[in-house]
Amino acid sequence: MSGENAPQGMGAPRPETRARLDALQQALEETSRRQAGYPANLAYDYSALTPFLQYSLNNIGDPFHESNYAINSRAFEREVIAAFANLMHLPAEAAWGYVTSGGTEGNMYGLYLARKLHPDGIVFFSQDTHYSVLKNLSVLNMRNIMIKSQENGELDYDDLFETVRIHRDTPVIVMANIGTTMKGAIDDLGRVRAILEDLAIASHYIHADAALSGMILPFVDDPQPYGFDAGIDSVSLSGHKVIGAPLPCGVVLTKREYVNAVARSVEYLGTLDTTVPGSRSGFTPLILWYALEHYGLDGLRRLVGDMLDMAAYAVERFNENGIPAWRNHNSVTVVFPRPSEEVVRRWQLAPLGDIAHVITMPHITRETVDEIVDACATDAGSTRT
Ligand SMILES: *Cc1c(COP(=O)(O)O)cnc(C)c1O
Repeated sequence: MSGENAPQGMGAPRPETRARLDALQQALEETSRRQAGYPANLAYDYSALTPFLQYSLNNIGDPFHESNYAINSRAFEREVIAAFANLMHLPAEAAWGYVTSGGTEGNMYGLYLARKLHPDGIVFFSQDTHYSVLKNLSVLNMRNIMIKSQENGELDYDDLFETVRIHRDTPVIVMANIGTTMKGAIDDLGRVRAILEDLAIASHYIHADAALSGMILPFVDDPQPYGFDAGIDSVSLSGHKVIGAPLPCGVVLTKREYVNAVARSVEYLGTLDTTVPGSRSGFTPLILWYALEHYGLDGLRRLVGDMLDMAAYAVERFNENGIPAWRNHNSVTVVFPRPSEEVVRRWQLAPLGDIAHVITMPHITRETVDEIVDACATDAGSTRT
């Protein structure tokens, strides 16, 4: 947008403005290097997309319908949805979805659809479920029951069975975790479905919160069941986690037939109002599209393989130092006893109660792991026994 369309009145920043931005940038450089507890891949380069920051991209409404607002990246968004549908074992022609603002919105969408399809349904979810789900349930005002978790963070299937048994007369909506936030646990979709079958539950819906592990399991040799072939009805994934993105984003996917239940045409937009937000970023779909182009499936397999190797390395190093760290199968979340606040703060270790974790995202090197293990091992304030 150079030449006659160049923005007016926003030339070079004033020196004070520049100084504030420089100081922020320097601080971000520093904190990014020591970000080890949150599942965000910080190792990326999207500079090829910088020119697109000059356009007011807006993918308002349904990505599968054209909109009156022509400055958009809908065609790219549809390619992203098709690629994710493929990863989630849903034929592209049967798939519907859109690029969200993150995992929370995708979870909200799944629950919203579930309620449209089963207005009287009760939502069952484990204790280890992400906090966004409780918030979403409150926003949507859906009846819900929390199920116990096992020590490793996975659903307690006996508790699920007993609780669903008592409510056999109501549709069952299961919020399954494909990688819990704290422990990276994966709920066994086979067992969940077996419970629904054993109890002859006619109306049911399974939403998978696959924020992190949804981008891991498609790339390992022995994945736990996770996709539409395993019986899920919708899934939410994060884009800024494994793939990495400078703007939070994600993908929600479901079956096209379900969405007809919520579709409503809006003449003013010339599109369908099938999404939670109205205006949506047209830039984040470009980020995901570019990452998929850049890595390809082989590149993502390597990326994920390296993350898992680093997680194995971290567990080994912790254990060598007498710290009982562990991780779930196919998980990059390494759980260990909560160290002192100083160590937690220095490495942004995302603590909960008496545990903390390191998530071996691609920017986490062996040196970083070694530094964290050393800090924990020499940590006087460690709660480890
Ligand atoms: C990160 C995460 C979310 C939320 O994702 P946002 O992108 O932060 O909204 C939901 N569920 C799980 C399991 C997560 O790890």
